[in-house]
This record gives sequence, C-alpha cells and structure tokens, in this order.
Amino acid sequence: MIFWQNTAFLKGIFINLSIITNAMAGKDAKSLEERLRLGFDCDALCSTEQKKEELRINKVNGMGAFLKEDYSSARQFFINAIPKTGDKQEKEWFYRKIIECSKELFKNLMDNQLEDKAEEEFKRVCAGYEHLIKAFETSDNYLDYMSFVGFEMSDKYDKNLFEEAKKIGEKALCRFPEDHRLYKEMYDLCIYTQDDELEDNCIHTAAKLKFNDADYMLDSFGNALWQRHKDNGIIPFQTIMECRGGALYENPAALQKYGKYMVDNVAGNDKLALHMLYTAYCKKPLMPGLKEDLVDAFEQTMEYMKKNNAPIAERKLFIARYQKILEIRKELAGENEKENEKSADRNRFSSEIVVVNPKEIKQYLDQYVIGQEQAKRGVSVGYYMHLLRLKHQGEKNSKMDKSNILLLGPTGCGKTYMLQILAQMSKVPFVIFDTSKITSAGYVGSDAEDCLKSLVNAAEGDIELAQRGIVYLDEADKIKAKPGYGKDVGGEGAQQQLLKLLEGSIVNVGGHNEKKFQIDTKNILFVVGGAFSYTEEGGSIGDRIQCREKVVGFRMQKDEPEETKTCKEDKKNIVTKLTDKDLHEYGFLPEFIGRLHYRIVLDSLTKPELRRILTEPGNAIIPQYENAFRLSGIKLVIRDDALDTIAEEAFALNAGARSLKTICDKIFEDALFHLPGSSTTEYIVNRTEVMRYIKK
Ligand code: ADP
Repeated sequence: MIFWQNTAFLKGIFINLSIITNAMAGKDAKSLEERLRLGFDCDALCSTEQKKEELRINKVNGMGAFLKEDYSSARQFFINAIPKTGDKQEKEWFYRKIIECSKELFKNLMDNQLEDKAEEEFKRVCAGYEHLIKAFETSDNYLDYMSFVGFEMSDKYDKNLFEEAKKIGEKALCRFPEDHRLYKEMYDLCIYTQDDELEDNCIHTAAKLKFNDADYMLDSFGNALWQRHKDNGIIPFQTIMECRGGALYENPAALQKYGKYMVDNVAGNDKLALHMLYTAYCKKPLMPGLKEDLVDAFEQTMEYMKKNNAPIAERKLFIARYQKILEIRKELAGENEKENEKSADRNRFSSEIVVVNPKEIKQYLDQYVIGQEQAKRGVSVGYYMHLLRLKHQGEKNSKMDKSNILLLGPTGCGKTYMLQILAQMSKVPFVIFDTSKITSAGYVGSDAEDCLKSLVNAAEGDIELAQRGIVYLDEADKIKAKPGYGKDVGGEGAQQQLLKLLEGSIVNVGGHNEKKFQIDTKNILFVVGGAFSYTEEGGSIGDRIQCREKVVGFRMQKDEPEETKTCKEDKKNIVTKLTDKDLHEYGFLPEFIGRLHYRIVLDSLTKPELRRILTEPGNAIIPQYENAFRLSGIKLVIRDDALDTIAEEAFALNAGARSLKTICDKIFEDALFHLPGSSTTEYIVNRTEVMRYIKK
C-alpha cells in the first residue's frame, strides 16, 4: 500500500519538526567554569535538585502513560525530561522512548486508515532518529534507523523508502567505514532495489574486512558470493582470496570452509575450491574432514572435465598436479575398510606401537592445542623419543634411557590437555593422578601406586596395554620437600614413592581385599606437571632464574603482540637456563630430578588465544553448543563481539582456558533450558547478552 505519494519529503522533514527540536535543544555539556559556579551557587544547587525532581516526575508520568498506551502524552513527558537529564545513557534512553511512542502512534493511525496523520507521525519517528544520531552517533543507532526505514516501513508500506534507507546507510558508512554490519544491511537493501553495483561493492568491502571469518561471510553473503556470479565469473570469491595480500592463505580453517561451501553449492567447475582446499591441506593436513573435502572437490572437477570433454592433455596435467589427492583417496578408502572391519571397542586402543615423527605429532597437537608453539615442539620430541625407545627396545645397539617429561606452566594453559591428545593419537590408556594426595601407607589418602591401579582401569583391565600408557602426575609442585613438613602428605615421601615408578620397576599393586597384580613401569610415560608458582622465598621458579640470569621470568598475562614476542624469547631462555639446581632448591630430590629428562615450559594464554580456543580446536566449545542448539531445532548465532567478551572475561579470571567453559555454561544454560520445545528458532548472542550472564 502506498499511503503518501511523495517520498521526497524526507529531505526536508527535519526542519519542520520544531516541537521536538525545541524541547531537545537543552545543552548538557557545561564548561568547567559553569560547573564550578554551580558548585558554589546555592540557587544553582537548588535548581539542580529541582531539575532532578522534574526529571523523575516526567519519567514516572511518561512510563505511566506509556503503559496505559497513551503514547501521545508519554512522548510529551519524555520530551520534557530530555533537557533535565545529566546522564548520557539516560538521555539516550529518553530519545529511544520518544521514537517508540511515535512508532506506536504511527501504527495506530495506519490501522485506522488515517494516512495523512500517519505521514506526520512517520516524520516524527525519523526526526527522533535524527536527533538520536546527532547526539549519539553510533553505528548501532544508524543500523536501527536503516532497519526502520528500510524494512519495517518499506516492506509494509512504501517500496520507495528502500532508497531513503540506503541514503542513511551511505551516511553511516562515511562515518563508520570499518563496521561490517553496515555493509550487510546495505547489501540487504540492495537486494530489494536491485542495485547490483552497490551490492557488489558491499560484498567486496565486507570481504576485505572479514575475509578470515568464513562462517560470517557465508552466512551473510553466501549465495551472492557464488550464485549470482555463476555465469560471469567468480568475482566476490576472488576478492576474498586476494584480500590483504593473500592473507587468507594463512588461514587453513577458513580456506576449508570456503572450499567446502563451493563444492557443496557449485556443480562442476570448482577449480578454485580445489585450490583452496589443497592449500589448506598443505598447511594443515590433519584438519578434521579436510581430506574428504579435498577428494570430493577433486572428483567433482574431474567429472566436470569429462562431461565437458576437456582435452586429454589438460586432464593429464590436472591429475599430475594433484597426484597427492589420488594417494589420499586410496588412504581414505583403506581407512574406511579398516574401520568397517574393526569393532568400535577394539579400535579404542592400539595393539601396536606406531612411531610418529615429531613434525606429525606437532601437526596432530596443532589441531587441538592453540598457541604453546614451543611447548608443542618440546612435547613432540619428548614423545617421539619415548615411542622410539618402546619400538626398538631389546634390539642390538638401540639402548635408550627411560625418559619422563616435566611440564611447567600456569593453570589451564593446556598441560594436561596436551597429554590427553597424545594418548588419543596413539590410542593408549591415559590417567591423571593428583600427587598432592599421596600419603605414606596406612593413612587415608593415596599411595603413589594408586596411579597404576587407575591406569589398569583405564585400560579396561588389560595389563599389557596399561604398561604402555601415559600417567600425568598433576600438582607436582605441591610435593616439594619442606623442612619440618613431615612425610605424611606430599613432600619428600611422595617423591620417594614416585621415584620407584619413574625409574621403571616391577611394582606390586593391590591392597588387602583387592585383586593383586604386578605391573612393569619401564614403558609407561610419566609426565610430571605443575605451576611451580612459589619457592620458599615466594617467587616462581621463573622469577628465581630471572634474578640469576637477568632474563624476564615466566610470561605474565599480557596481550600486546610486541611484548608477547619478547616474552616468548624470554621463555625459551628459561627452558635453557633451568638447571637441576633450580629444581633441587625448589624442593625436589636429586634422584627425582634426574628422571625428568624433558623439561618444557608453557605460556599463560593470551586473550586472542583464548578467543581462538572457543571456536578453532577440533573439539572446540562453541561448535558443540551450536550443535546442541541445532539438534534442538534452534539456530545459534554468536556474534564476534560476544566471543571477544567471553575471551576478555576468561582472561580476567586468570584461570586459563578453564574459565571459558565456566562462562559458556553460565551463558547457555538458561537458553538450553527454556528454548528447546518453544517456538523460538534462532538465539542470537551478542556482547550485551554475554554481559547479562556474566554480571549475574
Ligand atoms: P592445565 O594446564 O592446568 O593442566 P588443562 O590442560 O587441563 O590445564 O586445560 C583445561 C582445559 O582447557 C582443557 O581441557 C582444554 O579444553 C582447554 N585448554 C587449555 N589450554 C588449551 C590450549 N592451549 N588450546 C586449546 N584448549 C586448551
């Protein structure tokens, strides 16, 4: 329905709206002198109190009228209140309420077919937005305004208003050229106005801003990125590829998503998809699902070439270039067969020792563990040496000492997690054992051998298998020897007990009424881990080395890339400077220290790393929640600013990645309780929503 003929009125409407303008003209920004004078002037003080009271009355009356749906009076009260507000937020609130009232009045008039009067009200809504933006020029306010004129109005009443909304958008983009949401809004408007050039422009600019965020780009512009350009090229995708000097090539996860999207949505000629997937594969071959996607893209392209009778020479060239994919195809076919053969249970643990080289171990860890580059390298080498020893023991000239690993690093930075991933890779049993609970036999608590009982349990009673497992001895910094500390809990006694296991010996396990068995620990990998935060004098081991070597200690929680770089260097220094003497002075027995050959220091996680942990690892938290919502029939949309906020909050809590899960549980618990089974089909989480739960 067209309810007024001339939409050009928008250009001049704001000049005519004197009622609102005058009421809002009160100046809030006072000079320092004025404010000082206020402070000493009793009259002025009284008038401030009076102002506050008037503000309160207008607010109360306004809300009263609003609730009674008397929007005209409500608006007047809100307009009266504006000059009396001191607080910015409050002022913005009043502006918004005025807009809301005008919208309601407009709707009522339209329902009653009073189109002339409705036009006046429409102008008032626009004027409200103009004032709001003048006072608070934020992209959110522009977005609201665009959405009102562009969609609330245009869809229902007058298609011409799409053009007006675009004008608002152009203004907004001049002010906030980095806000990708504005491009998305403009792009949506262009779909209605069929403004292809601007539409392309929006996609291109958004691609430049968000090229690394494949989910966002495909969600927002998915179809346009490919479909619209099917016949005349692949322009938007090309833009994404070229963005920022080819920086996308550094992000295998995004390449995989773009590539897969094209394979799924484009029949045939998707060489670009293949190129993306192949690049991702060269960078991160073990990324989940990547090999399958690559083979799909290859087969699809081959099929297309055949159908279109591509010359044999071209096809041969193609196969030669992607020879590697043929190997992967074979490998996948073999794996599938093997998988069909083995039952899931038999597959859980591996019966043979497979030596994986350190680079491959690191690549496997990379899929799950974010950051910790130096530590991942160290652990990969340590674990490789362990596997070599197992594989070749008993062979002539291949004697290697039993090596165990020491991990030093703050809580929640991935010490335990790294070992868990290694055990998963090698399919060997794994247990975490809290060494601070170790007591001398006869007291309530644990014996060191209890960790072997747990390992046999983890191996489902298979002692052979348990003898090749991994034991993570957690909280090891708590078992330092302390003068006068006694040997009951922790301390030297605990170290003595563990020493037996670390050395590699045959241990009798099982108490009075328990099944007894013997277990040989020579092939079990023991990893000793802890934060090593405090020496007797109060500092960390890192601090101690720092004093001695004049290098900076453990990396503190800092976010600036520059500092991170220097700290990483420093951390390397600590690993090389950490001596047996340091560990001895910390409270470890020399024999115990002698059993820990590989000493690895982990960093505390930075904010950007925490943010990546939310979405990137193979078992990341956010995709798990997305899945849970999807299976409940709800689309979970998590905005970038929400992820930023979660990472910031976790960083502030100072408990590494552990806090991420706690915060996410807090946020999603409510929604997971209320939304499944309701009529809601989409749940959007942004910064405000996150803060709402965090403050609870
Ligand atoms: P700690 O260093 O105290 O042993 P964990 O390894 O148990 O901490 O970390 C707790 C959880 O946090 C892990 O289960 C894992 O999900 C996550 N996490 C910790 N560090 C990382 C990391 N660097 N990359 C990915 N996830 C991590």
